[in-house]
Amino acid sequence: MRLSRYFLPILREVPKEAEIVSHRLMLRAGMIRQESAGIYAWLPLGKRVLDKICNVVREEQNRSGAIEILMPTIQSADLWRESGRYDDYGKEMLRIKDRHERDMLFGPTNEEMLTEIVRAYVKSYKDLPLNLYHIQWKFRDEVRPRFGVMRSREFLMKDAYSVDLDFESAVVAYNRMFVAYLRTFERLGLKAIPMVADTGPIGGNHSHEFIILASTGESQVFCHSDYLGMDTPGSDVDFQDPAALQTIVNRWTSLYAATEEKHDEAAFEAIPEGQRLSARGIEVGHIFYFGTKYSEPMNATVAGPDGVERPVHMGSYGIGPSRLAAAIIEASHDENGIIWPEAIAPFRVGLLNLKVGDAATDAACEAIYAELASRNIDVLYDDTDERPGSKFATADLIGLPWQIIVGPKGLANGMVELKRRADGTRETLPVAAALARIT
Ligand code: ATP
Ligand code: MG
Ligand code: MG
Ligand code: MG
Repeated sequence: MRLSRYFLPILREVPKEAEIVSHRLMLRAGMIRQESAGIYAWLPLGKRVLDKICNVVREEQNRSGAIEILMPTIQSADLWRESGRYDDYGKEMLRIKDRHERDMLFGPTNEEMLTEIVRAYVKSYKDLPLNLYHIQWKFRDEVRPRFGVMRSREFLMKDAYSVDLDFESAVVAYNRMFVAYLRTFERLGLKAIPMVADTGPIGGNHSHEFIILASTGESQVFCHSDYLGMDTPGSDVDFQDPAALQTIVNRWTSLYAATEEKHDEAAFEAIPEGQRLSARGIEVGHIFYFGTKYSEPMNATVAGPDGVERPVHMGSYGIGPSRLAAAIIEASHDENGIIWPEAIAPFRVGLLNLKVGDAATDAACEAIYAELASRNIDVLYDDTDERPGSKFATADLIGLPWQIIVGPKGLANGMVELKRRADGTRETLPVAAALARIT
């Protein structure tokens, strides 16, 4: 992409309305634009990041055996009357009437709809296990939308729903998602800790919130500091092997980690003092086994091997890709701007032409640009006539992991400069060597 033809509305001023660093940086980097309270348009740079996050989420869902679908944003109130949640959900639900005066709503989540789909098609235990997910916009009329896309009213969610014959197989499904989440957050460059969360009337201990520690987080959390150094499962993990999954889950739940609602001060104090972490956290994911809460009232039953009909056991598993865009920035930035992990950077490389109009510099940049394109590497070519200082500032602000800096002086000796955004190191080296470093 050539910056001269791109749409990158950078703000030089620090926006006053933004209280936390990720919100300020997303506005300054031209990633998002607020259209109403808690409702955002995603501008090109933001859209690229959001898509990359979704792709990581999708790859790990697919790897674990979940199957992608797409359910609508608008739902019928009648479905929610069946589960009893139409009245219970309260003011967070945006209620709508269509032209026939039918009650509709903008979905805050999809348990009812998924249960309806299962009830229509899934008749036998032979059709199970099943895990269906989608990545779709949700609306929750939050009392206090704030911090940009961190707590917005319209937001993107990946929500998966597992369907099983009994509790034991539902736990295997839960463990699959648990492990898929560990892998997903690791690939996004985050240290997300699974913390015991409230199960409400469902009971049991199959609810975990995946939390990243950040001073701007809205939840108070408590955990053992060893979680920060624990290895995550590799891509070779066998999702068809319940024992292997259970071993990973056991290890990741062996140390104390709880949200405020489930906090047990005595258990926390049993951790050696130097390893106790009491911190603020951001909820980036949540997995939950809810048994027959919806299948029973909505009559989603299957016949077991004995021919007897029984309600299916279900769980739901959410990740917020739009919140993640902000959470990743909270975890990875410096005073100059965003530092994207390579996996989700909007462009992996920034190509900075320090003297547009100089024939040799232009030619060298064009050649590098073409070479990167042929290697399928996303590059943003700064071919504008801004001053070098402003080009450096933009590249750092938008957080591109690699910057190739091309100017006439270096070129006279066949050299360019290669800068790594993560640690600020710069090296002068021949073009071919710079390209080799990136690929
Ligand atoms: P919170 O406690 O932050 O209100 P929640 O517990 O209500 O979140 P869930 O119903 O568990 O959220 O939804 C799954 C995921 O969706 C959350 O873990 C989070 O990543 C994302 N999410 C929920 N609410 C919002 C929101 N208002 N804005 C952005 N993302 C959200
Ligand atoms: Mg909420
Ligand atoms: Mg929550
Ligand atoms: Mg939650």
